Amino acid sequence: MRKKIVAGNWKMNLDYQEGVSLFSEIVNMVRDERKGNQIAVICSPFIHLNSLSQLAGGVVKIGAQNCHQNESGAFTGEISAKMLSSVGCEYVIIGHSERRQYFAESDELLAQKTELVLKNNLTPIFCVGETLDERNNGSYYHVLKTQLENGLFNLSADDFAKIVLAYEPVWAIGTGLTATPEQAQDIHAFIRAEIEAKYGANLADNTTILYGGSCNAKNAPELFAQHDIDGGLIGGASLKSRDFVDIIKTFN
Ligand code: 13P
Repeated sequence: MRKKIVAGNWKMNLDYQEGVSLFSEIVNMVRDERKGNQIAVICSPFIHLNSLSQLAGGVVKIGAQNCHQNESGAFTGEISAKMLSSVGCEYVIIGHSERRQYFAESDELLAQKTELVLKNNLTPIFCVGETLDERNNGSYYHVLKTQLENGLFNLSADDFAKIVLAYEPVWAIGTGLTATPEQAQDIHAFIRAEIEAKYGANLADNTTILYGGSCNAKNAPELFAQHDIDGGLIGGASLKSRDFVDIIKTFN
């Protein structure tokens, strides 16, 4: 059975104290949740990670939002996968559309990052998604296929089995405009079919694919009920403990 994940992406929000306090609240609120293969992940800014890892426990894990594609060296201001691993971080978002757009991260660069993240025993949450123009002009299947092929399909089957995918339509991020459950399911099924064509049915069946883009406690039940949607990558609604925990509880 596929792992179900509700991941929060705090982006560049919350100072150190605010982050620690929100994280503590979430951990306390889900302390007694025991749901087989379901977990929650908080992807915080780097400065919070070390403290959050001391507080993490039960179903709540910690993740980062990015890392560098090189092992170490003269890359002023950057953070390596090994450093993340050394503070107990278990997940890393790779290829978020904001990084693709504002930091010009290419599929090839993301492929490098993914490889290094896996080498350091972290789980990449690899994001794909089309822009509004690409949705409107009908090129979105092609766009998604290219992101998968160039960013991920260079991995061996053993490595691919360790990743988590997230479908985040750029037009739905932070806009309040959620993909309908049917639109999201359609793309998740498409992604799973692409994985099957490359790696076979067994691996495709076992790959966790999250939906992200204006997902909240209200629309999560219908989205998560779709056959190929295995949870969510949550932005805005992960910044309030009640909202985020309500989304986690959607799986009950
Ligand atoms: P919102 O939930 O704020 O739309 O953000 C989604 C996202 O980008 C998560 O990575």
